[in-house]
Amino acid sequence: MTDATDLAPIREAVRALCADFPGEYWRRLDRERAYPAEFVAALTKAGFLAALIPEQYGGSGLTMTAAAAIMEEIQASGCNGAACHAQMYTMGTVLRHGSAAQKERYLPGIARGELRLQAFGVTEPTSGTDTLSLRTTAIRDGDHYVVNGQKIWTSRAEHSDLMLLLARTTPREQAKSRTAGLSVFIVDMRQAKNDGLTIHPIRTMMNHATTEVFFENMRVPAQNLIGNEGEGFRYIISGMNAERILIAAECIGDAKWFIDRASSYARDRVVFGRPIGQNQGVQFPIARAYIGMRAAELMVREASALYEAGKDCGAEANMAKHLAAEASWAAADMCVQTHGGFGFAEEFDIERKFRETRLYTVAPISTNLILSYIAEHVLGLPRSY
Ligand SMILES: Cc1cc2nc3c(=O)[nH]c(=O)nc-3n(C[C@H](O)[C@H](O)[C@H](O)COP(=O)(O)OP(=O)(O)OC[C@H]3O[C@@H](n4cnc5c(N)ncnc54)[C@H](O)[C@@H]3O)c2cc1C
Repeated sequence: MTDATDLAPIREAVRALCADFPGEYWRRLDRERAYPAEFVAALTKAGFLAALIPEQYGGSGLTMTAAAAIMEEIQASGCNGAACHAQMYTMGTVLRHGSAAQKERYLPGIARGELRLQAFGVTEPTSGTDTLSLRTTAIRDGDHYVVNGQKIWTSRAEHSDLMLLLARTTPREQAKSRTAGLSVFIVDMRQAKNDGLTIHPIRTMMNHATTEVFFENMRVPAQNLIGNEGEGFRYIISGMNAERILIAAECIGDAKWFIDRASSYARDRVVFGRPIGQNQGVQFPIARAYIGMRAAELMVREASALYEAGKDCGAEANMAKHLAAEASWAAADMCVQTHGGFGFAEEFDIERKFRETRLYTVAPISTNLILSYIAEHVLGLPRSY
């Protein structure tokens, strides 16, 4: 299911679903800082969030290209997939590195939407992008691990049953290598919330359900360790290509939404007795945004195709994320400019989408770190950090 014709029914189905969640819905949530529970429930019921879970575990068993098309259409419809996109890809770590028992225990429930695994606890206040210096520890105690520390920007923690947690199990100075000594756990937050886990929401410039979480002697059963102790960094890294491709696809969707809005406004808005879009000063930025979006879209497709073929796509996934995040931000800026004052009015939805799409040049990985990756791993330049 990789070519455009095959994907047309999926794209249409996503668009039809999103039509039930128009601008007014998102504006109200934005004002109330509320979670789009009805929208997430509808996507779950339709099976879209289970796109990448194999059929043997009750998922839809779709390709990365199809999953990317789903995320793109959500954004292109004016909706915001960030409320739930991690439900689609966080399970990949369990799928690739979990035991047979863990896959049976979690994946069917995730596929049905009964279990929400959409909290991803990696970033910490002091380590930031330097993941290997994270300080949260998990110390083995009999048949449990005892977790102490803090994460920040743990998005959707209040709307998730499970969290994928990266913690240090071997002190850095005793670890066999630079990347060893970190381990990945599945934390059942339903139990942990009353017993060692505290969640504090963080208010941000957009309605993004993000939080900081604190662990105080939180006990995690040893059977919730994914793969081998000490190899967690590798498992987390292996899931990042999927995340980057899907978020790049979301950016493409955002860019399409901004370009569509700007083009139609520029055709209709008459100033000085003619449509503003007749002025090259107005039409060129729209055309430039379109060209940037199309170029980024090609890279997203290439990264998806490599991913599906089981080939290394680290460079392409990073480049896709970079180009797409730049394209969506450029389109957002252009769309505000094209609308003049109305770009700032809440009822046009542009200022909301503008705030939402701004995130993607910073998270889940910031532009500079992608440039460093390409410089080092593709161009053979010295490591800069
Ligand atoms: C809304 C939101 C949601 C998020 N959701 C999650 C989540 O669910 N789970 C999670 O684990 N994390 C999440 N994050 C965290 C996100 O991944 C980080 O914010 C991001 O990776 C940048 O890390 P930082 O904020 O600590 O910035 P820092 O690491 O402090 O960096 C600050 C700036 O310095 C630059 N910089 C740092 N080091 C270098 C260097 N060596 N060379 C060049 N430039 C450098 C960075 O590129 C950045 O621009 C989220 C963040 C936000 C804002």
